[in-house]
Amino acid sequence: MSFDIHNIRKDFPILSRKVNGYPLVYLDNAATSQKPQQVIDAIVDYYSNYNANIHRGVHSLSQEATDAYEAARHKIQNHFNAKTACEIIFTAGTTQGINLVANGFASLLNKGDEIIVSALEHHSNIVPWQMLCEKTGAVLRVIPMNEEGTLLMDEYYNLLSDKTKLVFVNHISNALGTINPIEEIIEKAHSVGAAVLIDGAQSCSHIKPNLQELNVDFYVTSAHKMCGPTGVGILYMKEEWGNKLPPYQGGGEMIAEVSFEKTTYAGLPHKFEAGTPNICGGIAFGVAIDYLNAIGFDAIEAHENELLTYATNKLLEIEGLRIYGTGQKTSVISFNIEDLHPYDIGTIVDKLGIAVRTGHHCAQPIMEFYKIPGTVRASFAFYNTLEEVDALVEAVKKAKMMLS
Ligand code: PMP
Repeated sequence: MSFDIHNIRKDFPILSRKVNGYPLVYLDNAATSQKPQQVIDAIVDYYSNYNANIHRGVHSLSQEATDAYEAARHKIQNHFNAKTACEIIFTAGTTQGINLVANGFASLLNKGDEIIVSALEHHSNIVPWQMLCEKTGAVLRVIPMNEEGTLLMDEYYNLLSDKTKLVFVNHISNALGTINPIEEIIEKAHSVGAAVLIDGAQSCSHIKPNLQELNVDFYVTSAHKMCGPTGVGILYMKEEWGNKLPPYQGGGEMIAEVSFEKTTYAGLPHKFEAGTPNICGGIAFGVAIDYLNAIGFDAIEAHENELLTYATNKLLEIEGLRIYGTGQKTSVISFNIEDLHPYDIGTIVDKLGIAVRTGHHCAQPIMEFYKIPGTVRASFAFYNTLEEVDALVEAVKKAKMMLS
C-alpha cells in the first residue's frame, strides 16, 4: 500500500464524525489510537461467526477460534521478531505485563538489590516497582533527566553496579515524546548482569522494534496504542526468563496437572495465561498489526515527522508558548502558554472539535521536574493531516485570546 493519507483516513469511520459541530480533529493518539474498519470488522466477524472458548474444545468452532488466536500470536511474534511464539504472552495490556514481571521478580530479589527506572516514566512504570521494593527490601534508583527531557546517560552509568538486578525504561515517554536510547541502556545493563524490561506502549505505533536484535529480556505493549482494541496487549519474555519466573495468577489454562496435593504448571506461554483470555482482542490485535505493516513503518515515521516539524514550528509562533521535551522525539507535543492553565486551553479547543489531552499524563514526576501542574499534549498519528495541525494552531490562538 502506498501512503495515501486520504484513503487511509477513509479506513477510520470515527474520523468523519463531528464533535461540538466541528469535524473531529483527533490529537490524543498517545492515550489511544483510533481503529480502522478492518479491525472493527474482525471483531464483528469473531462474535458473529466463530465465538467459542479456545484450547479446550474438540468441536469445530473452538478449533477455529483457537487457530485464529494462535495465528495472531504468530503474527505478533513475527512483527516484533521474537525467537518463538511461546515467548509472546497475551496480557490485558502494558500495565498488566509490567505487574506480571514485577510479581515474578519478588521471588528473585533480595534486600539491598537495586532496580533502576527513568525519570521519564508513566505511573504504571513506577508504582509496581515501588510495591516490589516494599515487598523485597530492594531499592529503587532513578535515572535523572535534563531540561530537554532527555535522560542523563552518565548518571545512568554511575547508578549501574553488581547490585542492579533490573532496569526498566519506556522506549518513548508518553508525556514528552522523548525517544530513549534503549540499545545503549540494554547493553550497559547487561554488562553488570541486570535484566531489562522495555515499555513499548508509546513506541509501538511509531517504531517496529526487533526484539532479538535488541537482545532485551522483557518487552510490554498494549494493542490499543497500535490501532487494536483495548483490554489486550503482550508481554514478551525471553524463554529462559519464562522458565525462571513463577506464574502470576493461578487458574485454568495455566496448569499441566492439578490435584489437591500438588499442581504442576503448563509450559510457556500458557503458564502466564490463566483463565479465558481476550480471544477476540488477540485476534483483532493481529489484524491491526497487519494493517500497520501494510502501510509500512517507514512511511508512518516519515509522515509523522512531517507533522511534528510542521506543528512545532507553527505552535512556536504563538507568543508565550513553551514546548516541553525538545530532544530526539516522536510526534508528541507537550506545551503550555504563559499564565494559562492547560485545562482551560484543552476545554476551549474541545469546543472546536479538537481532542487533545491536558493534565499530568500519568507522569507527575515529570511535571514536578518542570514545576508545572500539567501540559496540553497534542499527539499525532499517521492518519492526521497538516490541515488538522492548522486547525489546532488556530484553536490554540483563539483559546489564548479568550483566556488572556
Ligand atoms: N506506559 C506508557 C509509556 C504509556 O503511555 C501507557 C498508557 N498511556 C502505559 C504504560 C499504560 O498502558 P495501558 O494503560 O494500556 O496498560
